[in-house]
Amino acid sequence: MAEKNLPFTKEELLQIIDKYPTPFHIYDEQAIRDNVRGLLAAFDWAPAFKEYFAVKATPNPYLMEILREEGVGADCSSLAELLLAERAGLAGEDIILTSNDTPAVEFQKAKELGAIINLDDISHIDYLEKNVGIPEMICFRYNPGPLREGGNSIIGNPEEAKYGLTRKQILDGLQIMKNKGVKRFGLHTMVISNELDPNYFIETANMMFDLVLEVHQTLGIKVEFVNFGGGIGVPYHPDQEAVDLNYLGKGIKKAYEKKIIAHDLHPLKLAVECGRMITGPYGYLVATVLHKKEIYKNYVGLDACMANLMRPALYGSYHHISVVGKEDWPLGYIYDVTGSLCENNDKFAINRKLPMISVGDVVVIHDAGAHGHAMGFNYNGKLRSAELLLKPDRSVQMIRRAETLDDYFATLDF
Ligand SMILES: *Cc1c(COP(=O)(O)O)cnc(C)c1O
Repeated sequence: MAEKNLPFTKEELLQIIDKYPTPFHIYDEQAIRDNVRGLLAAFDWAPAFKEYFAVKATPNPYLMEILREEGVGADCSSLAELLLAERAGLAGEDIILTSNDTPAVEFQKAKELGAIINLDDISHIDYLEKNVGIPEMICFRYNPGPLREGGNSIIGNPEEAKYGLTRKQILDGLQIMKNKGVKRFGLHTMVISNELDPNYFIETANMMFDLVLEVHQTLGIKVEFVNFGGGIGVPYHPDQEAVDLNYLGKGIKKAYEKKIIAHDLHPLKLAVECGRMITGPYGYLVATVLHKKEIYKNYVGLDACMANLMRPALYGSYHHISVVGKEDWPLGYIYDVTGSLCENNDKFAINRKLPMISVGDVVVIHDAGAHGHAMGFNYNGKLRSAELLLKPDRSVQMIRRAETLDDYFATLDF
């Protein structure tokens, strides 16, 4: 059972709203720090373990700085994300560029930062050489295709995924890079997304350790690090269970002992690039009820819309909703909770059992800390909301202001 509590009292929240009008996103700094420490602790047995925060989840340099203080790096997939990492004080191999269909300017910026470059395709070797030269270290992204069973609805089956190199291309690519004088190598994969079963990650680790072994046996290359990607899920629904990180760490340790230590390939650095599980559960979208409407169904209309959180509309995802001050009221009503876009899928919840809602109630949408504000867009002229940080001393800092109409019109000349 994932508990859906709020990190503030009703009184605290109303004071925050007094200063910062709804809608806004608010992140719980202490909870983010505690969570990251738990992840790192689960891998404290590894010779070197690095979490590269997938910046796309919550691309805010204030949050990235908090994570940097905890020893976390950045996983970037665009020029803007590389620049954010730089501004957050990260440099060198604390940054990895895991992109696909990559423009030259991203490779150039990554090289300038000394970041790890993770190639998504064998054809990128020539492209990289032509545009920025061959770096001293290179990483390749592996797509196991049919060798990897399973997958889930967000990423799908690896065979259908656009990412990475085939097994044969991995071996060819490493050989080509070795011939070009590269001395340090990493291997990367990302085959699942929003997965709550830790056994999938342990299986992925086993698959990657087998690949490290094969690379050593066939090419004589000792891989320096393995990056398992992100994909650790968030228990969005109260009936779901968060991934047991200690179980995960222990399972991968067992595989490491059996495959890496036993074959004399120790030490091998391990890395992950989780985004969702780092910030997702610790961000909340706060909104106010503007209207109630009773037609064939009962609707509750918020001052937030899909521009603030599009996961429910995009994937049909469940996000828990608390009506502030009514947490203990009976769930006696069924509502669709909507935004104001001229799109019928602009709904945060469909047929949701909730307490009786009145106009003016404050609602909190849970687990909005990843792919929430980040996926914002301006359709219908809707503006992105502010981002706030609830600090460990309970003070609140605005870490991104809300967009204004001037921002919206800034690209027009009229
Ligand atoms: C999205 C992504 C991640 C992060 O995934 P989460 O599900 O947020 O953990 C990591 N690596 C790559 C390459 C990604 O595209």
